[in-house]
Amino acid sequence: MEREIGAMAITAGYVATGEDLMWKVDDSIELYRVDRWGNGYFSINQSGNLTVKPRKDPDSEVDVMGIIRELEAAQVQFPLLLRFPQIIDDRLDEINGAFQESISEFRYIGRYQPVFPMKVNQRKEVIEYILRYGRKYNMGIEVGTKAELIGALSMNLPPESLIICNGYKDEGYLKLATSFQGMNNIIVVVDLFEELLDILEHSDGKVPQIGIRVKLFSKGSGRWAESGGESSKFGLSTGETLEVIRILSEKGHLDRLKMLHFHIGSQITDIRRIKEAMNEAARVYAKIKKVADVEYFNVGGGLSVDYDGSRTSEPSSANYNLREYSNDVVYTLQKICQEEGVSCPTIVSESGRAISAYHSFLVFKVIGKKNSRTLYLPYPHKGDSLQIEDLHFAFKTINIENYKEHYHDAVQLRSELFSAFNLGNIGLEERAKGETLFWMVCQKAAALARQAGDPAPEFAELKRLVSQKYIGNFSLFQSVPDMWGVEQIFPIMPLHRHREMPSVAGTIADITCDSDGEIKRFGGLRGPRECLEMHNLDGDYYMGIFLLGAYQDTLGDFHNLLGCVNEVHIVVDEGNWRICNTIPGDTCDKLLRFFNYDTDEFIRSIAARDIEDPERIAEELRVALQGYTYFNRGERRSDPDDSLTQAALYSEPVRT
Ligand SMILES: *Cc1c(COP(=O)(O)O)cnc(C)c1O
Repeated sequence: MEREIGAMAITAGYVATGEDLMWKVDDSIELYRVDRWGNGYFSINQSGNLTVKPRKDPDSEVDVMGIIRELEAAQVQFPLLLRFPQIIDDRLDEINGAFQESISEFRYIGRYQPVFPMKVNQRKEVIEYILRYGRKYNMGIEVGTKAELIGALSMNLPPESLIICNGYKDEGYLKLATSFQGMNNIIVVVDLFEELLDILEHSDGKVPQIGIRVKLFSKGSGRWAESGGESSKFGLSTGETLEVIRILSEKGHLDRLKMLHFHIGSQITDIRRIKEAMNEAARVYAKIKKVADVEYFNVGGGLSVDYDGSRTSEPSSANYNLREYSNDVVYTLQKICQEEGVSCPTIVSESGRAISAYHSFLVFKVIGKKNSRTLYLPYPHKGDSLQIEDLHFAFKTINIENYKEHYHDAVQLRSELFSAFNLGNIGLEERAKGETLFWMVCQKAAALARQAGDPAPEFAELKRLVSQKYIGNFSLFQSVPDMWGVEQIFPIMPLHRHREMPSVAGTIADITCDSDGEIKRFGGLRGPRECLEMHNLDGDYYMGIFLLGAYQDTLGDFHNLLGCVNEVHIVVDEGNWRICNTIPGDTCDKLLRFFNYDTDEFIRSIAARDIEDPERIAEELRVALQGYTYFNRGERRSDPDDSLTQAALYSEPVRT
């Protein structure tokens, strides 16, 4: 009996209630709230695996573990990013659809035209997906720098699609915008008053189409509220706006004023802010429309994504849906234009997040745990102190009825043991035994408190104390920079084993050597939570971080020289999936060169050294340099190029 208990490995949260047997897929759906943040794109199937429905169509559902198995077989290395371009297609259909419906509902006499703000995701493949599918909606691009402008110009947009130029514009920027006027529908936005003079000076008489970004009194809500309002970095005051009109009129270029624009910030979580801004901006439009023939009214970005699924005005959420947003924009414009007796403009919106956030997620493996306390039950020996015996008794008899009492006793017993140690009455071994037993009682107590739904603060504290730290093979700084930079919450969950009860609560540390590289805030219905439920580690454990398609792709950095991850792009069609594109992640060599190391020279210098077997060392170096930057446990040859080409061979649909 004693031996049996002694050999039993105890992990956090372990309670032998047989409850695991009763855990159902629906329990996991509720726990991870995948239906709430997934927006119809993500769910869990009856096998307990995460599924993706890129078109929200039940016939296009794909089991992510099926994809992972194929990629493993093709030796693709993890972490990797999965992109589903069809999710972008669906977002474009939904956003455009919402505006079309609002336009017919309010009998708006005018059109809607979308523009993708390039700063949200500059990756060429992503821009191509957006523009290719968005062609039917005259999808355009908004840029904020010279390099972004050149990128946008290289995309060969159809003549109706807009290229909107924002940001600080030097002579080179303005000259490009002017020279490409004949080929593209370019609008140069005056963000700062002084820019108007530069625009007029550098345009050689061929004044480009001009937009004005107006500074509204109303500002956004949430984290980026400061982008709007009177103190915002960009935009013209009312006085400056009138001055621009006066100057353009005086120089005979008032006909070039084509667009009014405002942007009160990203991720506007409260619909009231949108209503306020729309009211103010529509009024400004109507007044200006009476003196200048402005064609476009650009409502900027800010359409929120509900990352935590709480549907509130919390920073990572939104208290409104897409249709409420489009209704507010269209209805307000319609009403105010009618009141003021002016014609309705073409509505332009620059939603970035809402278009691209959903389409990609990171898949990583858990490679171990930190401060792991998988323990074996020590049992008392003759001569052990009374406290050890009592702790042992507490561990054996703790249950849902008596856990409070036993927990309190354990706290007391531990402090008695510490005193005894300090007085020299017990030795190190006994102290260790006591600590272990105390820890094990805590784990059971925490699990029982969770089961009992005990809200007492002492048990919340206890939960933190016994929480585990899993190590995920990824870099937070590279793949989820906003989690670090602005403490944004992203959905995170295991990709499989959802028919099992997740018995471990903990956080996830990445493989950087930075204490900030840890996921310790998770979405919750009542505010952020400090732990995530996960399964005990038993074989490969795959987890996903979701909704990474906005801002994360290019904001990430190379902390600890961990580079871009492997990418696999997937198309799903009637339950069949296939890889439509693969992009190899960075090798060590690529990163070192990026930071000015001459790796060739290093290899040559090693080969030339007076050491034993320099050739072998040089060869090892060569292999390491060509390898992936992430943790690689297997003996497999680490050449992402090779493995991805292999994966790309799966061009035939794979039945799921
Ligand atoms: C950042 C930005 C956007 C995009 O905002 P989202 O919240 O991602 O929709 C749109 N327009 C301008 C001018 C921006 O600076």
